[in-house]
Amino acid sequence: MLAIEENVSLLPYNSFGVAAMASSFFHLKDIGQFNELMNMPVFNGPRLILGGGSNILFTTHYPGLIIRNELQGIHILEETASRILVSVASGESWHDFVMHCVDRDWGGLENLSLIPGTVGAAPIQNIGAYGVEISHAIHEVHGIDLSTGREVAYSRDECGFGYRESVFKGRLKEKIFVSSVTLSLTKNNHHFNVHYGAIEEMLRKDGRHMLSVRAISDAVIKIRQSKLPDHHTLGNAGSFFKNPTVHASRAEAIKKEFSEMPSYPSDNHDVKIPAAWLIEQCGWKGKRINHVGVHAHQALVLVNYGGGTGVEILTLSQQIQQSVSEKFSIDLVPEVNII
Ligand SMILES: Cc1cc2nc3c(=O)[nH]c(=O)nc-3n(C[C@H](O)[C@H](O)[C@H](O)COP(=O)(O)OP(=O)(O)OC[C@H]3O[C@@H](n4cnc5c(N)ncnc54)[C@H](O)[C@@H]3O)c2cc1C
Repeated sequence: MLAIEENVSLLPYNSFGVAAMASSFFHLKDIGQFNELMNMPVFNGPRLILGGGSNILFTTHYPGLIIRNELQGIHILEETASRILVSVASGESWHDFVMHCVDRDWGGLENLSLIPGTVGAAPIQNIGAYGVEISHAIHEVHGIDLSTGREVAYSRDECGFGYRESVFKGRLKEKIFVSSVTLSLTKNNHHFNVHYGAIEEMLRKDGRHMLSVRAISDAVIKIRQSKLPDHHTLGNAGSFFKNPTVHASRAEAIKKEFSEMPSYPSDNHDVKIPAAWLIEQCGWKGKRINHVGVHAHQALVLVNYGGGTGVEILTLSQQIQQSVSEKFSIDLVPEVNII
């Protein structure tokens, strides 16, 4: 019989540090437990898969079963002189796995160092940072179909990856439990990406003249530590909103009024605009409302100073959306999963 806990506090399980309760909670440590879990009545009510809780905002008590993914294991599936195919259980810590790769000089994930959360959640929103997305290294995503209990596998092409998007956030939302992720990494002749953000500058500052998996990972970690609040001391979930994309003609029209607006080419004729810039222009950067606010150095990060509720954070996010919509006629879309 599986040990399902009742009335469990979610405070330790979300990086925003908001207080909420779950009526039922299960620590999934072995994939073999999944079939048994699926046969229990509690599985047929509301249910949520939880990884590290670093991309989630609880605005209410959860009225059903939370399945905390704690599956562990890293297995090499194939190895050639130049590449390695590695299967990682979805409950592994993402950053710990990146460090596992850095220690072995496996290339491909170094720009994604220090992103919180689990390996299984990483393909859901196609995590990305410093010019690299996990989709670049994904070979396959394995999972369990939550309605049939059958094992399923998706090739990279079938995952429908886009900017902070995948099929698991779209058509298959809440239908699949990601059980493991297979990544294809380089063992030599690494394809380094140092042109984004301040990586080159940090490498130069640190006197790291030879590019290596470790040097880039170290640089990314330093940059992130200097720019982003640590969620262990200041509750947050990283970027709250996605960077919006608009048609190039619309961006040009906005630039007539705001000539300093930054923008980057995106797909087709679209242009990406940094949401942080839009939020800052609306005067929100550094603003605090009671327990919650907008980070003083990074306007895309909403923070909980302590004791803030999910509703307070949600309300703040809606006020920001309204200001940006009124000033720029652009709709900001949350990147964070609001429950
Ligand atoms: C300080 C900070 C910095 C961040 N920086 C970045 C960044 O640079 N780039 C970036 O992309 N993100 C960033 N994030 C966001 C976050 O770290 C990622 O989205 C991460 O992948 C979330 O992992 P998690 O395990 O915490 O997911 P959770 O928050 O637990 O879950 C997120 C969503 O995925 C679902 N889910 C989780 N695991 C599974 C599974 N195994 N199967 C099916 N569904 C699942 C959940 O139900 C939920 O809908 C940052 C967050 C913080 C706090």
